[in-house]
Amino acid sequence: MMNFDDQDGQIWHNGALIPWRESKLHVLSHGLHYASCVFEGERVYNGEVFKLREHTQRLIDSGRELGFEIPYSLAELEQATRETVAAQGYADAYVRPVAWRGSEMMGVSAQDTKINVAIAVWEWPSYFSPEARMRGIRLTTSTWRRPAPDTAPVHAKAAGLYMICTLSKHAAEAEGFDDALMLDYRGRIAESTGANIFLVQDGKIHTPTPDCFLDGITRRTVIGLAKKRNFEVIERAIMPDELEKTDEIFVTGTAAEVTPVGEIDGRKFTVGTICQTLMEDYDNLVRVRSEAAA
Ligand code: PMP
Repeated sequence: MMNFDDQDGQIWHNGALIPWRESKLHVLSHGLHYASCVFEGERVYNGEVFKLREHTQRLIDSGRELGFEIPYSLAELEQATRETVAAQGYADAYVRPVAWRGSEMMGVSAQDTKINVAIAVWEWPSYFSPEARMRGIRLTTSTWRRPAPDTAPVHAKAAGLYMICTLSKHAAEAEGFDDALMLDYRGRIAESTGANIFLVQDGKIHTPTPDCFLDGITRRTVIGLAKKRNFEVIERAIMPDELEKTDEIFVTGTAAEVTPVGEIDGRKFTVGTICQTLMEDYDNLVRVRSEAAA
């Protein structure tokens, strides 16, 4: 079994590439105890990070939402990412930048902690199994809800927000599902535990307004692709009872890319033409773009 702390290769850690196994933090790190930690998830296609600028800016913005400034500029972080990707040498890979408060202070207040940054790159072909992607993934609704914007920094990709995602995904997997559908604090459809969601109704594409969860970079990319195809895209509040009049569902995310949903809590959805078109368009975009850059 692959263990993430025991790999060959290098990790960029606070300014330099170091051997993978030596990239460590102390157990008394503020980021670990108090979730003062933000991260990104990026994909490399043909050696190039897709939307590197957007992801790097979001990492910086997420840190600011948690009240800290990452001690590297956008350009420095982009360069560090490219260096790490090149050092690892994979054509297709996943990139995980992470920034966290260190161990200089141990308590709720941590104003003077150092902000640490690491970037790791590994091979990660598909978030859901190829079979699940073919038939559409199976979701069940979580009992956990996305929190209100005045109870958590909901627009940051912050480690603490994933506590309920892991609980939701574990509960779903224990019942044989691939993932969980999360509602928000108002009972509206929000997203899955690691991707945004789209519903196709009468040939039109509907997606929840991202006012209490990540407005994903893939979400925005796919909305752009849909509009290019002259599909109507409507961002609005969507209640779960609308699943009854929904024909197709898909989720979007850097790791998940465009993945069809085949079932939610026993209700079946077809892997239809709009979803298939956008899966292909997304594939072509990431491949063509990276081939043009190569
Ligand atoms: N929501 C959550 C909870 C996520 O973890 C992700 C993946 N980062 C997304 C949505 C999709 O974001 P993106 O398309 O920027 O990867």
